Amino acid sequence: MSIPDIIIAVDGYSSTGKSTFAKLVAKEFGFLYLDSGAMYRGVTLAGMEAGFMADGKIDEEKLKTITDAGLDLHFRWEDGATKLYLGERCIESEIRGWAVSGYVSPVSAIPFVRNFVDDKLHAFARNGRVIMDGRDIGTTVFPNAELKIFMTADELVRAQRRYDELQLKGEKTTLEEVQANLRDRDYRDSHRPTSPLRQAADAYVLDNTYMTLHEEVVWMLGLLQGKFGLLESPGLSC
Ligand code: C5P
Repeated sequence: MSIPDIIIAVDGYSSTGKSTFAKLVAKEFGFLYLDSGAMYRGVTLAGMEAGFMADGKIDEEKLKTITDAGLDLHFRWEDGATKLYLGERCIESEIRGWAVSGYVSPVSAIPFVRNFVDDKLHAFARNGRVIMDGRDIGTTVFPNAELKIFMTADELVRAQRRYDELQLKGEKTTLEEVQANLRDRDYRDSHRPTSPLRQAADAYVLDNTYMTLHEEVVWMLGLLQGKFGLLESPGLSC
């Protein structure tokens, strides 16, 4: 038996490793990976570069002029990975920076931003066989997704993972600042009126506090086999 063309929704708290997990699942089981958070980060970066965000404040009216004008954010498949582009420019690295992380949660709480991103996500996933990660994929974007995963992990473990990533990029932050940013984003994401982060009733919970990436993929394989029967080539390469 093989896996049918389904949509897999992966939601969860910040820095639970959703994208790392989803990317690997996509590679192992032949899905297209789409990172919805990257789109929110892309809108945030575009707004910052246009000078519409300063001192913790967002000029929503001006930001709307960019989304209304059809901001050209799109994914391209390059070197075995999906990368986010703003027009002809790859912005994959800039959107992961510390500055964007500071504004992205309030930006993503703005209803017109959510509509803009949701339209794009639906268009990207038109052909099915997609694994998409975010905060509201299983609840709002694809409430009928055939498989939903909700990821969580201990907050300090998540902060340490994110801090290590930022250190590698040469960003100057402390573990305490990173943990405060995670806590703030989780709070804002869970308490906003539009599409708050919450676990879908039919989601499977994956707590990876004490798990390796390999163990997470083995867990996924078990889930897929439970749902779709023994897979034709269940051998994993990771
Ligand atoms: O997943 P990532 O941490 O890159 O997402 C950045 C931010 O985008 C999140 O903190 C959240 O505020 C927002 N987001 C969202 N809904 C999604 C994906 C991300 O609100 N589906």
